[in-house]
Amino acid sequence: MDNKKETIFDNWNINSDNQPLIISGPCSAESESQILSIGKELKNLGVDVFRAGIWKPRTRPNSFEGVGSIGLPWLQLLKREYGFKTAIEVANSKHVDQALNSDIDILWIGARTSVNPFSIQEIADSLKGVDVPIFVKNPINPDVDLWQGAIERIQGAGISKIAAVHRGFSTYDKSVYRNKPMWELPIELRQRMPLIPMICDPSHIGGKRSMIQEISQKAMDLNYDGLMIESHIDPDNAWSDSEQQITPAQLKIILEKLVLKVVEVDNLEIKNELKVLRNQIDHFDSELINVLGERMKVANHIGKYKSLNNITILQPKRWEVIVKRTLELGAGEGLSSSFISKVFSAIHQESINKQTAFKIDK
Ligand code: PEP
Ligand code: MN
Repeated sequence: MDNKKETIFDNWNINSDNQPLIISGPCSAESESQILSIGKELKNLGVDVFRAGIWKPRTRPNSFEGVGSIGLPWLQLLKREYGFKTAIEVANSKHVDQALNSDIDILWIGARTSVNPFSIQEIADSLKGVDVPIFVKNPINPDVDLWQGAIERIQGAGISKIAAVHRGFSTYDKSVYRNKPMWELPIELRQRMPLIPMICDPSHIGGKRSMIQEISQKAMDLNYDGLMIESHIDPDNAWSDSEQQITPAQLKIILEKLVLKVVEVDNLEIKNELKVLRNQIDHFDSELINVLGERMKVANHIGKYKSLNNITILQPKRWEVIVKRTLELGAGEGLSSSFISKVFSAIHQESINKQTAFKIDK
């Protein structure tokens, strides 16, 4: 990492330097020696928080469901030995009680729990009166309201230190990702809750080692506050998520290669150049609004004409022609078809709304 970056975590007392918060450790705790040997290797890499799953939510029964509470003293030992803050996943109030009794520093709520307001409320109720940092992973389905709701329930328990963890979203269609990142969702949550730090979990997004560097860099480019990356002393033989875990040595390389960007610069020359470019953006935004207004006026005229001549407002053939034409024009400008489709669907919908309103007002 070749830059300094101030993060919202700076006064949380869990981040040792001014860098993004780095959380690492195995998907699952397997044995005391596994925990200690990973800890020993992670010690000098700038890792702030050691993660390990004790209770593992598994899709199907009869697979490894975590070692359970016998793993808690291993993490206490690790803490004493290497000075890490520790984090585990909790899914119910029993987990919360046991974690707090074992001095776990941070509790995270997994994706399968964030989807369920009953579970979240149970966890929130069991947290009343303690101020332990809580990290809330996004729900498995792409639903920002649900993610926000989970955070609000935890806030309602009086917890002041809450972070969001972006681990991607489950979809039925095939993708190169294990869980599609859908970056627009965490960006939306950030806009709604600007004071909640955002951490990226590239391990569960990518599902494979080879993708971790690229996803982590993208998160840094989007000004995330930290990373949660699964690491293991012997990834190929890990008891869960073996394909996505990396060795501490691989983590070291990934962290060294990360380029951190700054939000604002002090350099006057760069500032001025940015100002010129931003003025251009403002100018084009005004033009766009202007053109959209003019287009809508024409749509209103068409609406009036259709109404007077008893023609239906929705004309599928005409819409097909518009779609084809705008996609071609967009491609000529290097604009993706998904972008053009979204923009013109919104414009078309607004035209229909206006034309329908005219009919009602008549
Ligand atoms: C995990 O962190 O190991 C885990 C189970 O994550 P998620 O809840 O994102 O699936
Ligand atoms: Mn995992």
